Amino acid sequence: MCTVCGCETATHEEHAVASPQADAHGHHHDHPHAHSHTHDPIDFGAGPAGLEVAGLTQERTIRIERDILSKNAAYAGLNRDRLAASRTFAVNLVSSPGSGKTSLLVRAITDLHAHWPIAVIEGDQQTSRDADRIRAAGAEAVQINTGKGCHLDAHMVGHALDRLPQAEGGLLFIENVGNLVCPAAFDLGEASRVVVLSVTEGEDKPLKYPDMFAGSELMLLNKVDLLPHVDFDVDACMAAALRVNPRIQILQVSARTGQGLGAFYAWIEGRAGAPPCR
Ligand code: MG
Repeated sequence: MCTVCGCETATHEEHAVASPQADAHGHHHDHPHAHSHTHDPIDFGAGPAGLEVAGLTQERTIRIERDILSKNAAYAGLNRDRLAASRTFAVNLVSSPGSGKTSLLVRAITDLHAHWPIAVIEGDQQTSRDADRIRAAGAEAVQINTGKGCHLDAHMVGHALDRLPQAEGGLLFIENVGNLVCPAAFDLGEASRVVVLSVTEGEDKPLKYPDMFAGSELMLLNKVDLLPHVDFDVDACMAAALRVNPRIQILQVSARTGQGLGAFYAWIEGRAGAPPCR
């Protein structure tokens, strides 16, 4: 989890490793464990912290994560208050890189901007390419570059909100950094998290990265126009998503052809309320 992997600003204490012993493979360990050659995974998430960070105890890992996430939660609360004041419906769009988030947004902006004021916050490690595409489609956009960071946090989003118009009753889409792991931990102050998965990825992604799907209200299964050309089991994918989140809603869509997007727009209206301009 990136709350403690080094991409946050918290200082990480260096701990002396007590008499590390090199094993037969040349690896150094300061903790004992059995060397069994089974097909079971080597599970670094079995401890109370849910992860292991070299040089940190489980207790220290938990303390750092709590500290970072509690600060983030405070900023997220401020963002949520600001968005509520302008009755803005905010969606945090998460996925792996390449699932089609920006293309979905470009299509949605083209279809919806006559009815809703729409603003977009774009998160990428580098470049303003996505914000440029969003502006060309007709919406206000602020690009956040995270540098080596692997997710947006609520503090970054607050700064982006400072630069965006707060249109009454509008929509705010926050396109998170493409990453199915780290963005799962960070509340940005959004009303809803929507995960995008495309049929060019594996149908077992929800089982491999359950936190992202467990915390999402809606899954958009994108690029369904490509289904005749790829080996992708839609039923298995939906079963996997429902296994980690029995309440997740699932829509099959294509940003390229527009298939299924009417249902997505109906979902937005159901959550955001009627658009200000019919
Ligand atoms: Mg993008």
